[in-house]
Amino acid sequence: MNLLDIHQLDARHGLLQAVRGVSLSLKPGERLALVGANGAGKTTLLRTLAGIHPAAGGRVVFDGQDLSGHSAHQRAALGMALVPEGRRLFGSMTVAENLQVAASAGRRGPWHFDSVVEALPQLKPKLKALASALSGGQQQAVAIGRALMTNPRLLLLDEVSLGLSPAAVQGVYDSLARVVAMQTTLILVEQDLQRTFAFADRIVCLLEGRIVASGLTRELTREEVMDHYFGHRR
Ligand code: ATP
Repeated sequence: MNLLDIHQLDARHGLLQAVRGVSLSLKPGERLALVGANGAGKTTLLRTLAGIHPAAGGRVVFDGQDLSGHSAHQRAALGMALVPEGRRLFGSMTVAENLQVAASAGRRGPWHFDSVVEALPQLKPKLKALASALSGGQQQAVAIGRALMTNPRLLLLDEVSLGLSPAAVQGVYDSLARVVAMQTTLILVEQDLQRTFAFADRIVCLLEGRIVASGLTRELTREEVMDHYFGHRR
């Protein structure tokens, strides 16, 4: 059975339709990358799945359950976790506190404080530091750790490498590799196609809110994806 089935999902910002009739499915353990130019609707799609942004039409079925009318909190309790663009930590709380407050939002499972810190070892010396005092890469690790504390069945990752140094990006992806070893299903929004190809099983390209291309990573070339990226062949 699929973990996630999205049927004809629409989402708007006022008059602007940011997500247009998106349908896709995800099997347990799959790693899907959403790509597309700025403004293609990737963030809106993730936020709509997480219940932070309202759907304007369509249906999301998660583990056989129709999520229509489910709040963000209810979706988190069912096992959906969003690592938002910009991280959005509690800056005046310590790293440990940021992780601990997330636990109450989620489910029971393999992830708990110790296993999260083990998967994100860069946090170990920083547990008592205020989140606001951390580097960008460390803050991103906290944001990922906070999502893991809810024991997600589906992890939604929005531009985890945005604004980070190459070394910090590498650190974040090393962490994600350890997370994936625990068989978490995920949808990743990533601008860096090289990372996308290295990390995802399947790629979906959005243009102006619509899916314009999709396929298994091993069957696609970067050139093919780039051709769809801006809606024209180069
Ligand atoms: P980016 O890579 O820039 O984050 P994206 O693919 O994630 O792009 P979205 O952020 O989902 O795209 O934006 C989709 C469309 O919705 C864009 O045209 C954007 O300008 C518009 N949009 C996004 N957020 C809002 C908002 N809060 N109010 C109005 N329009 C918005």
